Amino acid sequence: MWLNKFVRGEVLLDWRDFLVDRQLIRRASLVDRHREMRLDVDNMSYEELLALGERIGHVSTGLSEEKIMSGLKQWKYLHIPLEEPATVVEPCCICQEDYADGEDMGRVECGHYFHTACIKQWLVIKNTCPICKKAALGT
Ligand SMILES: [Zn+2]
Ligand SMILES: [Zn+2]
Repeated sequence: MWLNKFVRGEVLLDWRDFLVDRQLIRRASLVDRHREMRLDVDNMSYEELLALGERIGHVSTGLSEEKIMSGLKQWKYLHIPLEEPATVVEPCCICQEDYADGEDMGRVECGHYFHTACIKQWLVIKNTCPICKKAALGT
């Protein structure tokens, strides 16, 4: 009797659990693979990220243009040397160009700033600061 019950009941249940587990495991490994993809994204160059963004559309790690424009602190660049020697301003870390007077600037929440056009393209792909990797804008 107990064998019947064992075969019809518990073993089947175990088998079903086993199948469920396998599905879970497969799903978990998919998630892991996805995570690895994201890690790769962190190590990609700006050009690679842009190409990736164009290929797979707007990834969930990025921001919509609306959010970028409302969250970004913007101003026009004007280099006024207040002290001598004038503080050396780092070039835009995204395009590696120096800032010129009158160019549109955008600052993210950590305080780092870039050309507005540059950081906009970046944030569409990824909501992190290209310099310090902190969340660029609150969502
Ligand atoms: Zn730039
Ligand atoms: Zn930063």
